[in-house]
Amino acid sequence: MIAAALKPPLRPILVHIIPMRQCNLSCTYCNEYDDFSKPVPTAEMLRRIDHLARLGALSVHLSGGEPLLHPDVDEIIRRIRHHGMSSGLLTNGYLLNVERIQRLNRAGLDNLQISIDNVAPDDVSKKSLKVLDQKLRWLAQHAEFDVNINSVLGSGMTRPEEARVVAERARELGFKGAVGILHDGNGQQIEPLNERQWRIYEQIVGHRGNSFSAFIHYDQFQKNLARGLPNNWHCHAGSRYLYVCEEGLVHYCSQQRGHPGIPLEQYAAEHLEREYHTVKQCAPYCTVSCVHRVAVVDEFRVNPTAALSQFFPQRLPMPVRVLKWLFVPKTQGQPTAAARLTVKLFKLK
Ligand code: SF4
Ligand code: SF4
Repeated sequence: MIAAALKPPLRPILVHIIPMRQCNLSCTYCNEYDDFSKPVPTAEMLRRIDHLARLGALSVHLSGGEPLLHPDVDEIIRRIRHHGMSSGLLTNGYLLNVERIQRLNRAGLDNLQISIDNVAPDDVSKKSLKVLDQKLRWLAQHAEFDVNINSVLGSGMTRPEEARVVAERARELGFKGAVGILHDGNGQQIEPLNERQWRIYEQIVGHRGNSFSAFIHYDQFQKNLARGLPNNWHCHAGSRYLYVCEEGLVHYCSQQRGHPGIPLEQYAAEHLEREYHTVKQCAPYCTVSCVHRVAVVDEFRVNPTAALSQFFPQRLPMPVRVLKWLFVPKTQGQPTAAARLTVKLFKLK
């Protein structure tokens, strides 16, 4: 997927699409749900997926609200896979049971993400380890797709240790874990982490080691935000990342609705090209980590050596050094022998 993203033309690397804005929970910090909207009609969802395939999207994730409330979620996932795109699902986990997990297996789901906010439910959030632990055990036993457990840290959190408990439980069950930084209603960081929260952040991240996947998931973006520092990056939302709301409009992300606000069926290559270059003023303190990750691909595409030094300011981890030696050309525009061989083997031209 990364190889396909590196070569022209510009195509969306990741799309979040909403099959249903309604949610069965009501977390007080959330601005991405209601308690009344109907599912997007399945035929319309399938048309939207088909158009994303025409735009060349590589990965389409269903988000919400709660996407498992949609009666035809399996059919939508099947359509994503039918086009050869990678499929994902972001859920609060409440509706998972063994039968549901097996249906997701059969539909061909590639990745499922659950955010867990605390150890026991409270007034802010019911997405707690106590309620969801049985679901996680079912996932560990039956899921044939990748499972990511996300926890969150940020100002105002009085029990930051709970994020560590969640991350440890995810690791125990063999899942990938991630920790995000709490944001305001515009996707902006609220305050730097205090000393106690920072210590916990480092403990969670420290368990990841220096593997390549740790680099992808716990990048320098999040560390800067945790310290209250801005990031110097170009957000390619509207191009490499799309957020398609329940009304079928394309937005930069869930926190910047209305920009550009164009109906998906009218979205075309010229929009991808224009939004790739549009400067987003909200970028320096943006906490939307999936868009950060997508941007990393382009930083590598444009200047791999500079990107590596930015993301590993001290020393490159061994797997990354090997990849650099194999794939980063000494002279720009002259691919290495390994890069040429990869292109040939995977028929990338
Ligand atoms: S479960 Fe997710 S979508 Fe639903 S209210 Fe909570 S954060 Fe929002
Ligand atoms: S920088 Fe990009 S991803 Fe972040 S809030 Fe702004 S538009 Fe959304």
